[in-house]
Amino acid sequence: MARRRRIYEGKAKVLFEGPEPGTLVQYFKDDATAFNNKKQGTITGKGVINNRISEFLMTRISEIGIPTHFIRRLNMREQLVREVEIIPVEVVIRNVAAGSITKRFGMEEGTALPRSIVEYYYKSDDLNDPMISEEHITAFGWASPQEMDEIMHMSLRVNDFLCGVFLAVGIRLIDFKLEFGRWWNNEDLRLVLADEISPDNCRLWDVETNEIMDKDRFRRDMGGVEEAYQEVARRLGILLDSNSPGDMTGPSSLQ
Ligand code: UDP
Repeated sequence: MARRRRIYEGKAKVLFEGPEPGTLVQYFKDDATAFNNKKQGTITGKGVINNRISEFLMTRISEIGIPTHFIRRLNMREQLVREVEIIPVEVVIRNVAAGSITKRFGMEEGTALPRSIVEYYYKSDDLNDPMISEEHITAFGWASPQEMDEIMHMSLRVNDFLCGVFLAVGIRLIDFKLEFGRWWNNEDLRLVLADEISPDNCRLWDVETNEIMDKDRFRRDMGGVEEAYQEVARRLGILLDSNSPGDMTGPSSLQ
């Protein structure tokens, strides 16, 4: 496929102009960053795996009636998505205490939360993604109260659904981050799930051993990052050759 005009480059992905108006091509890189870019590295094959995991999860989510920007996967590292206006809010849904919430409230990592908690952060690298409330979002006009109701409702549905999807393959969904966008479908304006859902923006622990299977392995220099991502893909039934983990060294083992 011929190279397209680059629209935007983020930490883990590049967005190119799509083949038709209103579409974009989302390219998944192997680059990894943490702590607002202070830590940078490469996880070999990550882009290929995240492309597949995100395709799988977005497809399952759209099957339960939640609209997403995902159209179809194009190749190993690229997917065709709808062009949307991204709402500059990161929505974090937590089931178990980990990461920033443990520091904020002095909680032990792994403590089950009394119920799922939804938090909002303003998407701004310059400001280090500050935590915000719905008041800030509506007062500053980043989203309307109606949109926030829909975002909250969709986020909790996605959480319930993904908890089940992961639990079925022996993984606990500890927390994750979602982004939403506005999609104009002719005259119709719809809120859709955007960005990606992958071990880059979820915390995933093995149900039996509590082994970490997500980007915390990179953040904490634990090693075995690619292997953990591959294991998530394998359990979800995404990898082609699920019987030979020794062969799963890179893109060639993926459909
Ligand atoms: N997260 C993300 N992007 C961000 C911040 C957080 O994808 O910019 C995800 C992160 O991977 C985790 C969840 O959101 O699954 C909650 O992250 P937390 O607030 O605990 O921050 P962290 O400890 O990851 O800095």
